[in-house]
Amino acid sequence: MHLADLYQPSILLSQLLCICVCFGGDHLLSHSNLAEVAVYRALTDSTTHCLVGLLSWCIVIGPSIQLKSVVEIALCGLLACSVDVDHFIEAKSLNVEDVVKLDHRPFLHNSSFVPFIFVILLCLRQFFHRILPMPVMLRLPWIFLIAFSSHQIRDATRRGLWFAPFGSTPALPQCVYVGLIVTIPLILRLCSMHLWPDMLHLQEKSHDKKSLRDSLIQV
Ligand SMILES: [Zn+2]
Repeated sequence: MHLADLYQPSILLSQLLCICVCFGGDHLLSHSNLAEVAVYRALTDSTTHCLVGLLSWCIVIGPSIQLKSVVEIALCGLLACSVDVDHFIEAKSLNVEDVVKLDHRPFLHNSSFVPFIFVILLCLRQFFHRILPMPVMLRLPWIFLIAFSSHQIRDATRRGLWFAPFGSTPALPQCVYVGLIVTIPLILRLCSMHLWPDMLHLQEKSHDKKSLRDSLIQV
């Protein structure tokens, strides 16, 4: 493994942007004059989750970002901010004022169920791909994993990670949560590049280049 593989400019840029979004979003939620306004908080928090999700998937796919990657990047951002829909479901209301009065953590914030959903998606991904033959369907389990983990880790700065029915971890310090958010996608990328190339097929491009080079040499 070469460090140059790991730290390519597009990956570093995505990580830096992700760090800026995390700190920027947290700053706006704690220091703005509007920080007590429920709608402002909900919109700022959701936007931050969405941007963190988008950038996390950009870290995973690195320099292989192409036009067709836009769908999966957008899906990761959408999934990352859609986790908070459980607040509305459990409050049985679309009013943000009702949602903030919820006295417990809603079900999509339970980190225990993430591995189960991930395995189910992993088992069903070929089936989904037959229904909708797009590369994004094959990557769906990992997009889900990155989107949900980024959301739950970011939320963990307030009340820790919640593993029902076992309990919760202590609240994560800001530097720990930001570090995890930019490191987990990188680990997934490394695993896909060097341990299980069939996982995300991130090396397709370099394979294509290699086979083109080989065929030119043979000519
Ligand atoms: Zn949340």
